[in-house]
Amino acid sequence: MTTPAAPLIAATGLTKHFPLGRRMFGPRRAVHAVNGIDFEVAVGETYALVGESGCGKTTTARMVLGLEGVTAGALRFHGKPVAELDAAERARFRRRVQVVFQDSNASLNPRKTLRQILGTALTVSGALRGASRAEVRERVVRLLTDVGLTPAESFLDRLPHELSGGQRQRVGIARALAPEPEFVIADEPVSALDISVRAQILTLLARIQRERGVAFLLISHDLAVVRNVAERVGVMYLGRIIETGPVGAVFARPVHPYTAALVDATPLPDPRPEVRARDHVDIRGDVPSPVSLPPGCAFHPRCPIAVERCRSVVPELVPLPDDPGVSVACHRAEERLAGLALPTVSAAHRPRPQEDPA
Ligand code: SF4
Repeated sequence: MTTPAAPLIAATGLTKHFPLGRRMFGPRRAVHAVNGIDFEVAVGETYALVGESGCGKTTTARMVLGLEGVTAGALRFHGKPVAELDAAERARFRRRVQVVFQDSNASLNPRKTLRQILGTALTVSGALRGASRAEVRERVVRLLTDVGLTPAESFLDRLPHELSGGQRQRVGIARALAPEPEFVIADEPVSALDISVRAQILTLLARIQRERGVAFLLISHDLAVVRNVAERVGVMYLGRIIETGPVGAVFARPVHPYTAALVDATPLPDPRPEVRARDHVDIRGDVPSPVSLPPGCAFHPRCPIAVERCRSVVPELVPLPDDPGVSVACHRAEERLAGLALPTVSAAHRPRPQEDPA
């Protein structure tokens, strides 16, 4: 799919710090959940944020939805800062930006029938304000049909607990579609589902994007899901995007050692020799606390190719010289491209940080 020029959503320097309780002595501490990220999602595009738990991807989604305040940075919708929207524009933004949650069981009212859940989504959002009961029923039937719950009439009066997990997630998607959104945030939309149902839901999301031109921000820890659904990906580590670009390019040739480790950990069938022969990355230790981020590159305590500069200088996200569509935040990106920084190490032979030759 080609990417239109004008971004629908654009985040610039988006930052979220959660202050911790005051200590008697010393500076005030905070959880540095998101640390100045930039990304854009074009009309009809699917952009994915991936990374381990706690990397900041869900906090990012909550800031876009307005469920969390922004510590710093800006979010633009159709080029206009969301913070400057007037009341009417803000109402339109809330209608145009919807969410599909991971846990469909918790996000649907257990006492309401599907007719009531979807009818409320249609009327409260303003998509069908003032409509007759018959008109609302007709739209609910159409929504249920669109998400594959057929025959729709047989689902109208069911309660959420009478559905399977996959059917409930389809209702969650139908509810997100009710206000006719331009942008949907899908937060781990299939991670709670059985493997056999995942492909059906992913196919449904892809069809919705294709037929309705809806843009998606996909939040996932699962690279196989991202590869199936998204066009571009941003890999997050400790609140920063450390590699971003088209999914095919990033997964076929991961340049940042953390991206390479993630790709290594996910068996992705790919017959291309350059993919099968790429280096393997062995990272050590646990993710550091987001309360006290390591100086320099936040990945340096775990990075098998860290050099002295990595301990003090934060690497900028810069386009690769041979593929400007991909940007990487790593001081040794060019060496990795040249095959000079290949961390093919085992746990028993991890190198100590070297002196920076530069
Ligand atoms: Fe490793 Fe240094 Fe690159 Fe960070 S900047 S990923 S520590 S080589």
